[in-house]
Amino acid sequence: MSPYQLPKQQIVETAQSLVEKGYLMATGGNLSIRIAGQNAFAVTPSNYDYGKMTPDDVCVLDFDLNVIEGALKPSVESALHAGVYQTRADVQAVVHTHQVYASTLALINAPIPALFDEQVRFLGRSVEIIPYAPSGTGFLKNAIVKHIKNHHNAYILQNHGALCFGHDVERAAHNVEILEKCALAYLLALCTERQTSQIPLPIREIAFAKLRKDQKKAERGEMSTSGE
Ligand code: 13P
Ligand code: ZN
Repeated sequence: MSPYQLPKQQIVETAQSLVEKGYLMATGGNLSIRIAGQNAFAVTPSNYDYGKMTPDDVCVLDFDLNVIEGALKPSVESALHAGVYQTRADVQAVVHTHQVYASTLALINAPIPALFDEQVRFLGRSVEIIPYAPSGTGFLKNAIVKHIKNHHNAYILQNHGALCFGHDVERAAHNVEILEKCALAYLLALCTERQTSQIPLPIREIAFAKLRKDQKKAERGEMSTSGE
């Protein structure tokens, strides 16, 4: 049995659950899990039907994108995933989606301000828009690596989709759901053309401090993590 069986299994289960809930559509989006203790990660294959994906279909790559395991072509965004793990020691799982409501904000270039306590607690002070770069390119990877140093766990990719992180894959998948709820609520609020209120600044900072505390624990390996 592959020593990477557990993260591969978690990738299949999480991808299929995200498809069922409507956050992953067709073969769009991709997800990965850091392999604990190695400069490596497990990632979904490219352009592959998540419904028929099995653990054997999941690729394991090192951070230079050399294949450690897997016969299928890895996601075209593999460099982006490696870049996130190299930049953010707290991140153990990365989910990239084309989820509809966040993608709508990606079209009107509308970052989500601090609207809800649980948004800031898990996603960060705001959900910023990362400027457009074509899918699967080093330009996109570089734009992302530049932005994620602000310790947020969710971003919107202009004219593309969304990117969420977590200290484990369950948290990353939950963050996808929180992001979509916030995106929908914000879009509806914008449609009313009334002023949108934000949470008070001191509350925002308290919530963000809790997220930072979790992230520092994850960096020290003290949060429950996925992978080997
Ligand atoms: P992959 O199927 O290669 O993962 O690409 C999907 C995608 O979302 C590209 O941005
Ligand atoms: Zn994409």
